[in-house]
Amino acid sequence: MRSLYLNGAFVPEDEAKISVFDRGFMFADAIYEVTAVLHGKLVDFDLHLARLARSLAEMALVLPLDNAQLLAIHRELIERNALHEGLVYLQVSRGTEDRNFLYPPAGSPPTVVLYTQAKVVLESPLAKRGMNIIGLPDLRWGRSDIKTTQLLYACMAKEQAKAQGADDAWLVKDGFVTEGTSNNAFIITHDGGVVTRELSNALLPGITRGALIALVKEHDLRLEERAYTLEEAQNAAEAFITSSTSFVYPVVTIDGHAVGDGKPGVLTQRLRQLYIDHALAVIA
Ligand code: PMP
Repeated sequence: MRSLYLNGAFVPEDEAKISVFDRGFMFADAIYEVTAVLHGKLVDFDLHLARLARSLAEMALVLPLDNAQLLAIHRELIERNALHEGLVYLQVSRGTEDRNFLYPPAGSPPTVVLYTQAKVVLESPLAKRGMNIIGLPDLRWGRSDIKTTQLLYACMAKEQAKAQGADDAWLVKDGFVTEGTSNNAFIITHDGGVVTRELSNALLPGITRGALIALVKEHDLRLEERAYTLEEAQNAAEAFITSSTSFVYPVVTIDGHAVGDGKPGVLTQRLRQLYIDHALAVIA
């Protein structure tokens, strides 16, 4: 039986309990992080800590754990669960109080949960096959840049993609792609430009997105941070997504329209390898 971390203790997963009145359950008043694990070590953990701090600040949540304690908890969970490859999930909710739209008084303890999940990351089949994507309207709230657990629309969109025989959806707001349901969306133009939406309140500042952009610059490829339409994506040379637990997955069709020759793109595959090399170099 795996253990998880709950409010200061490591407990078997089937014994961990939180209140029905937890604000994460009642209001999705909670934020989360997901860090990939390779060879039992964390990928770009400092960057995840920085985004966690930003999410906490945006939500006026106070976490009574410092970065060294968070690192120690992540490491202990990985060790206890003998996790070799997969992820560590962390959630902080505004804690348990009688249901009330107003925040609980300052000093009320948050609920802190961490668990591990084993997942094939390096040899994922989707990395070879590529993803089939559909476009859907982006009907999420106006602060998609905060990593909250309010993920209902992402679930609905993913479910619609599945119902249409696709792997995922790219979300379109005011005519332009924002991101995928749980990943950032990239295209590659016919003259080799690597294009992804510029950061704003409309999309999550993905850690993998940031690392990939750094690699693009480092390898003298051309980066364009700008909006693009689903039609431009369908007619691009290549397309792909990034996220902490998929790294880089090629996108091979969009609404049934083949991207490029309908196979994982050459530059996309190179970028996936560059990202894997980066991840293996920074794991700690
Ligand atoms: N966008 C959304 C909406 C996401 O949920 C995620 C993953 N949680 C991402 C982008 C990718 O972010 P990261 O690279 O930090 O995993």
